[in-house]
Parts: sequence; C-alpha cells; structure tokens
Amino acid sequence: MADSHDPILPGGTLGILGGGQLGRMLALAARSLGYRVHVYSPEADSPAGQVADVEVVASYDDLDRVRGFARAVDVVTFEFENVPSATSHAAAEVARVRPDGDVLHVTQNRLREKAFLRDHGFPVTPFRRVASRADLAAAVNELGVAAVLKTAAFGYDGKGQQILAPGSDLDAAFDGLHGAEGIHESFVDFEKEISVVAARGVHGEFAAFPVFENAHAHHILDVTFAPAAIPADLAAEAASLAHGILDALDVVGLLTVEMFVTRYDRLVVNELAPRTHNSGHLTLDACVTSQFEQQVRAVCGLPLGSTALRQPAAMANILGDVWIAAGGTPHWTQALADPGLKLHLYGKAEARAGRKMGHLSATDRTVEEAVARVRQGRARLVRH
Ligand code: AMP
Repeated sequence: MADSHDPILPGGTLGILGGGQLGRMLALAARSLGYRVHVYSPEADSPAGQVADVEVVASYDDLDRVRGFARAVDVVTFEFENVPSATSHAAAEVARVRPDGDVLHVTQNRLREKAFLRDHGFPVTPFRRVASRADLAAAVNELGVAAVLKTAAFGYDGKGQQILAPGSDLDAAFDGLHGAEGIHESFVDFEKEISVVAARGVHGEFAAFPVFENAHAHHILDVTFAPAAIPADLAAEAASLAHGILDALDVVGLLTVEMFVTRYDRLVVNELAPRTHNSGHLTLDACVTSQFEQQVRAVCGLPLGSTALRQPAAMANILGDVWIAAGGTPHWTQALADPGLKLHLYGKAEARAGRKMGHLSATDRTVEEAVARVRQGRARLVRH
C-alpha cells in the first residue's frame, strides 16, 4: 500500500505484530494516548494481548490472517523483529507498516546488518561469513582466533554464540552452529556496553534518548542506568551514529543501536533492533516521553516527544530465576517498601530461568543511588 504521511490521530487503531512485553508496554502507551490496539500473537493470552482491544491468535505464516489483521488497523508496527518477511509483506499489501519490511530484512540477519553498517561507513568489528569448516578456518586465518562465532539469524540474549580463543576446538565450534549460517566476529575488548534508543518520524525528524549503560549477567541484560558514565563528546558521538543509522535505513518508527565502548574510547556498533529495547524501560518512569509512547508517536506520524531524562535513573530486570530463588512468589511487598521503586510485571504465567518477567526502576539524585535502589529492591524479592 502506498504510504501516506497523513497522521493517524488518537482514536485510530494501532496493530502490533508480536505479543511479548515490549508489545504490552507499547499497547499501554497507545491506549493512554487514546488509540485502539490490536495485537497479532502466535500464543493466546500474551502479555500484549492481555492489555489490547483485540488479540488475534494465529501463526505468522498464516498470511490470510495477517492480511485480515492489517486491514482492521491504520498502521502496523512490531515488537518482535523475527517476524518472517512474508508476514510483513502481506501486511504491507493492505496497511502502512512502520518501520517497513526492508528495515526488518536488514536487521534480522547479523551478516546483512553488519554488511549494511560497514558499507555505510559505520564502525563495526571485522567479520566473515561462515557456512563451512573451510570458511571458519579462513576467517580464523584472516581475523585471528580471538572472536565470537554466532548464528547469523534468530539470535538474541547470547543464544547461539560461542567465544573463540587460542586453543579453541574449531570443529566443535562449527558443529555448535548446527548447520545454520554463522558469522565470525573479531572479539571487541570493550570497556562497557551502551545503547541508544532513537526515533525517526515520517518527515525524517529525529530524537534520541540519553545514552544508556548496560550491564549483563549470563548474556542477559541485568541492569541499565542513565545517563551512561561516558564523556559528553562520546555520548554525542553515539547519538550522532544512531542518527546516521536511522537515516541510512530510512526508519519510520523506533530503532535501538547497541554499541561497545572500547578501552580506547572508540565506539563499535554491535547490533540493531528495529523496536523498543529492554535497556529503554527506564524511560517509562524517568523520561518526559517513554520509548513506547515515542514509538506510537513516530509510527502514527505525530510530533516526537521530549526524550529528556528528569533525573538519573536505573532499571533492574526481574527474571524467572527470582521465583526459583524465592521458592515461589517473590516478596513484592518487601521490595516495594522503598516507596520510590516502580514495579512493572509482564503478565507471564510461567516463571522460567532466564525468562524476563518484569523489571524495577528508580530515579535518584545520582546514578549510583538509583542503581543501588533497584539492586537492593530486587535482592529483597528473594530475602526471607
Ligand atoms: P549480541 O547477541 O550480539 O547482542 O551479543 C550478546 C553479548 O555478547 C554482547 O552484549 C556482548 O557482551 C557479547 N559480544 C557479542 N559480540 C561480541 C564481540 N564481537 N566481541 C566481544 N563481545 C561480544
């Protein structure tokens, strides 16, 4: 369908492909702005479906259902980037899809994504495609063995990744790809990981949130704080990289750029996500506009909101592991004894290890105090 720049005003209907927590918080933001929300989810009673006007439960491969879903809404957006391209194309036949299928196509595959970034002059670590044992041997020969071998598609939270080092068994590493296409990336000796969540509107207008600094545990985001503890010129450079990337991809909507800060204060782009991001959850309680409201504004063609941070802020993820450690229901009242702490739960019935169930956030006079509050609050969830 030909795209139109006419705004979709409150009262219109937003369609979200994907039913997870990002879709849930997006749906809540859209409803708060006065939109109707339809969610397309492969599973019933999804976190997003629970708070939507309509939940369509069907497979992404059921293109007739996808077209029917898209026909009933004014614009389709995503909360999950691994929606098959055929699905976004089917939706695009009958509705505006933002960001469009090309953005999805580039960001669904690490090889395409890194090649796009490199070809447009953005800093990425050297990489090679690995489709055979010979490819891996050649990659190690050219780039060295200090590397991360990842599957090119459908990877997140460190799934499908292996760190290579001198002495690594390359055959075993190749077998670990289980026949999937791989990417060999030179290891980045980074000092910290940061992310920039940014939005671009229908007329190319741009707004980035302050830079977030991220700490991971077992490959999963653990704690985020803002502003990142980096020099102001580096933060400006990170925002400017994000601006260039959203322009180059012609994004209408929101996109997250994950970056490494190297030991020499250089920025290297690691990954793009064409959607809101776990690291941006603190915007709900700490910024004038949340990342979710910003996505709604961008895809509906409304003016973008202020991304200003009201106070230093922090967010701690609550994984299913907390239920396991608490031996059942976490001690919510004990955690919320700190009146400044905000609890967000995603409505997931089953708590499994590594599963993102919710998060805590707090603002304070300093980043250190905000981080201490969310960490202490989370510790109280499991303490008897
Ligand atoms: P990803 O799935 O690409 O976001 O990677 C998950 C995590 O693995 C990152 O957050 C980093 O901590 C680590 N990692 C990924 N790629 C590299 C790399 N090329 N060099 C060093 N660490 C990496």
